[in-house]
Amino acid sequence: MNADLEDVDAFAARARAWLAENMPLADQGRETFFLYAATHPTDDEVLARAATCRQLQRRLFDGGFAGICVPREYGGQGLTPAHQAAFNREIKGYDYPAEIQASTFIPCMAVLLEFGTEEQKHRHIPGMLRGEEIWVQLLSEPGGGSDAAGAVTTATRHGDQWLLNGSKIWTTSGWWGDWALCLARTNWDVEKHRGLTVFSLPMSAPGLAIRQVELVNGSKDFCQEFLTDVAVPDADRIGDVDAGWSVMTRWLHHERTISGGSPYITGGGNRPSDGPYEITVLVTAARRLGLIDDSHTRGLLGEARADALVQRALVESVTRKMATGALPHHAAAMLRLFGGTTNARRAAIATEVYGEAGVVWAPDEETNAQVGLGYLIRQASCIGGGTTEMARNVIAERLLDMPRERRADTDAFRDVPRGPRASSTP
Ligand SMILES: Cc1cc2nc3c(=O)[nH]c(=O)nc-3n(C[C@H](O)[C@H](O)[C@H](O)COP(=O)(O)OP(=O)(O)OC[C@H]3O[C@@H](n4cnc5c(N)ncnc54)[C@H](O)[C@@H]3O)c2cc1C
Repeated sequence: MNADLEDVDAFAARARAWLAENMPLADQGRETFFLYAATHPTDDEVLARAATCRQLQRRLFDGGFAGICVPREYGGQGLTPAHQAAFNREIKGYDYPAEIQASTFIPCMAVLLEFGTEEQKHRHIPGMLRGEEIWVQLLSEPGGGSDAAGAVTTATRHGDQWLLNGSKIWTTSGWWGDWALCLARTNWDVEKHRGLTVFSLPMSAPGLAIRQVELVNGSKDFCQEFLTDVAVPDADRIGDVDAGWSVMTRWLHHERTISGGSPYITGGGNRPSDGPYEITVLVTAARRLGLIDDSHTRGLLGEARADALVQRALVESVTRKMATGALPHHAAAMLRLFGGTTNARRAAIATEVYGEAGVVWAPDEETNAQVGLGYLIRQASCIGGGTTEMARNVIAERLLDMPRERRADTDAFRDVPRGPRASSTP
């Protein structure tokens, strides 16, 4: 370790004092992530919270606590994952720009750090750290998201620019994001993984139409985009032409760290509090409902507590081992799998504990509403950031060395049957 680096304990003490002076306290128990919020925020309310996130991010930047592991030349602090982990412990209980951690810092900033040119890094990363550039991911397509290499959104070169055509979907915060990473097919005559390229583009680009998608719980934060001759300068290409899969491998890795393991996100990622699933909130609810002595309820509370403890220990252990090289980066799939299934299970546990209070609620019973709506949307935690089934595949094939899944699409991608629209490919 660099002897000039600030001692982690001294850094934590400095962070503690700064936080107390500069950051507002979090509204405990309030679910801030738009997708899971109990009361469906209006578009204006979402934009107001986004503006607050930008201000809070700017405050972190001005205080010297943004981009703790980002090199100083791009506006970061040039410190270590241990410093970021210490800061994450200190910031618990404070409000912070939770809603922009994913996708701005992971995977987008992480991908730029690894694959961006110097010009691209200097142009974007300081703006991200100052809260001026919110980034989103244009990855999933209507035809499928797990098979990212099967992307059919196409980029065609015209001199020093590319024209992008196609559609992307399930873009978190797409309608209020500033910039995006976008995966596109640049070569149809090679096997699917070898014909992809990654681009960056502003969400205000001419030809990019954005439509909000309403979910079962009323959230409208997801978007579908339609790209019609969207012009992207070659200077905004990330990585080499047709080498997008190398970028994607790391993009997907950073995306999986949504459940823990990233040195680039502040606090607990997109969800600063466990909301109704916080064990103290669950125990209080059980007491209020007269169930605290009920053996079945006690078993559920014990299970929720054990899951939370195991998750914290797993995140700490796997993060440390990935940082030292004791585990490969594919190990993030273990965090992704445990985080996804545990979050879904906690939503089910809360629903069981709350019973009918989590099914019918009065307008002012926000926690009850969070439980009910959280149950409806619980499976999202097993899908967003890559599905838990895909995480199981990574664990089986990359960590346990089990046989690879059989593939029926190793021909030139143009010749791979892809359903009724296959004949309309370029
Ligand atoms: C909260 C949330 C946030 C998201 N944010 C974004 C975003 O910002 N940008 C973005 O581009 N996308 C985003 N997504 C989309 C997400 O990445 C995709 O939904 C996900 O990758 C799955 O793709 P799909 O929905 O097309 O399902 P499919 O890929 O069609 O899969 C359907 C089912 O089949 C399973 N399956 C598929 N292939 C295999 C296989 N080889 N082995 C085993 N099982 C398999 C899947 O696990 C899944 O259960 C988000 C999704 C959620 C829920």
